[in-house]
Amino acid sequence: MTVQTEPMRVSTDVLVIGTGGAGLRAAIELDSRGQRVLLLGKRPKADAHTVLAAGGINAALGTLDPQDTWQIHAADTLKEGRYLGDAEAVELLCREAPNAIAELVEYGVPFACEADGRLSQRYFGAHRYRRTCFVGDYTGQAIIEGLVREVDRRQIPIMERVYVTDLLTAEGRVNGALGFQLEDGQEVIIHAGAVILAAGGHIHIYQRSSSRRRENTGDGMTLAFSVGASLADMELVQFHPSGMVWPTELEGTLVTEAVRGEGGRLLNSAGERFMARYDAERMELSTRDRVALANYTEIMAGRGTQHGGVWLDVSHLPAEVIHSRLPRMYAQFAAVGVDITKEPMEIAPTAHYSMGGLRVTPRTHATEVPGLYAAGEVTAGVHGANRLGGNSLAEILIFGRIAGEHAHEYAKTQPVLPLDESLIAAKRAALAQLRTLDGATQRELIAALQWAVWQGVGVVRTAEDLEHALRRLAEIRAQAEASETGYGDLPAALDLRSMLLTAEATVRSALLRTESRGAHQRADYPETDPAWQRSIVVLPQRTAAGTNTGMSLTTAELPEPSAEVAAALDEAEFEVAGRLLE
Ligand SMILES: Cc1cc2nc3c(=O)[nH]c(=O)nc-3n(C[C@H](O)[C@H](O)[C@H](O)COP(=O)(O)OP(=O)(O)OC[C@H]3O[C@@H](n4cnc5c(N)ncnc54)[C@H](O)[C@@H]3O)c2cc1C
Repeated sequence: MTVQTEPMRVSTDVLVIGTGGAGLRAAIELDSRGQRVLLLGKRPKADAHTVLAAGGINAALGTLDPQDTWQIHAADTLKEGRYLGDAEAVELLCREAPNAIAELVEYGVPFACEADGRLSQRYFGAHRYRRTCFVGDYTGQAIIEGLVREVDRRQIPIMERVYVTDLLTAEGRVNGALGFQLEDGQEVIIHAGAVILAAGGHIHIYQRSSSRRRENTGDGMTLAFSVGASLADMELVQFHPSGMVWPTELEGTLVTEAVRGEGGRLLNSAGERFMARYDAERMELSTRDRVALANYTEIMAGRGTQHGGVWLDVSHLPAEVIHSRLPRMYAQFAAVGVDITKEPMEIAPTAHYSMGGLRVTPRTHATEVPGLYAAGEVTAGVHGANRLGGNSLAEILIFGRIAGEHAHEYAKTQPVLPLDESLIAAKRAALAQLRTLDGATQRELIAALQWAVWQGVGVVRTAEDLEHALRRLAEIRAQAEASETGYGDLPAALDLRSMLLTAEATVRSALLRTESRGAHQRADYPETDPAWQRSIVVLPQRTAAGTNTGMSLTTAELPEPSAEVAAALDEAEFEVAGRLLE
């Protein structure tokens, strides 16, 4: 990779980092308020992680179930999140979700409709009513296509395949970013009045994750933490019950819960339908965290398959049903030589979603660092200890818009500070050094980190495993710092940097939370402790000159829900039937 000596310089009013749903929606908001905005992402513009979302997006429209309301949607979200969601953020989300759907319809997203033209809504797990809108099994892709069309129509500039390495600051305020073009290494400096981070989650720290390669490496969280923002709820990682276990290149790839919804049976190596031991009533249609835990327990108890999974079998269903209801799954397994009309699928839990992330004020989506806003999976707040399926797509649109609105206000009223050239020189020198590190070693260290995280802070955690993981992370960090020079792979070195930081925050937070709740299961603290109905906050430790030296942890209280949502929570307990899931 040859590097031009002089960086390219660009300026804008607001820079949006990330071209997933949250970033695209934020940019549309800024443009509609007449502000200059630049969108930037490390992948091609219509190919952000959001395209993977299949199942749908939630809003209490009440089209099929008129009893549904935003208050009940909020109650379901808080309940499924085991009361660790921020009630203020949850209420904003549920109130605004119908507007987000209306906007998407305006952008031409072809949602499924009933015969009378009203939008169809389907059940997702743990929803009291049908409130999930969908476009076949490619809702995320259809949303991205609609948003990209709108961004193109407005001629909003997008820089594709640019990797942001650092946020730039002056007088403690964010005023730009440094990055480089992935194609030719050309450095890019962007001077901006405000920055919105919409750079996705951190689940790639796990050996098995439903994310694609080189996405969700925790970049956004690391960029913001490095300039003084704090993180929250990092221990709360959602595990999906079913990801592929082989071949290695596809390990973790999602096997949709619709397979269970259609009647798929889970079997261990002895052919036993083991869900009878974990949830005899709902069996395979139990909640996401319970099925993930059951699969994990069977594998750990030595009743797993050769590749360390369990069997998921639909071969008892008529082949026509499989072809018509699960065409994507049929194709996904056929591509690796497994005919699911005849043979079972080998699956295991896979890390799926970062419920923790940057700490933001719900109303503005401002971080604690002036000039820096964030939206989407990079943030904490809404999902608590277990995300309600379909809420994330609503979140990225609503909070993308809100971040855009408030970044606009900030950039309009605050003078833009000049770039600090000595800071830029120091950052560029650090990058030049990272460029020389041996790429193969960086990639090996990433694999070692992913294994340490999977073993240490996976589906079930103990103090002993978490402490071991912390020691392994320290060793990997030391090895990374002592890396030999060689044929450089700067993206790998940077991915490793972000993964080390976010993995450490995840492990330390999981160690501190001495209870089990939702996706956070501690074998040594199996009960839910009401005293732990608090958020865990990870603060950067900083020198007077603003350099990070480590992290410290504290806890924060969560706001109470409003009276109307509290009333919806108090309503009779509802039972979740077997319903379509992500
Ligand atoms: C298989 C799968 C199925 C899902 N199904 C559903 C569903 O049915 N319903 C639902 O609600 N949710 C679903 N989700 C979750 C949902 O898709 C995501 O949470 C959501 O799309 C995140 O959007 P985002 O805009 O926050 O981030 P992303 O879409 O992840 O976009 C992040 C962007 O940031 C860019 N970026 C990251 N780091 C850098 C950097 N250093 N420099 C430059 N750019 C950077 C990336 O290139 C990307 O453009 C699913 C997730 C998966 C994995």
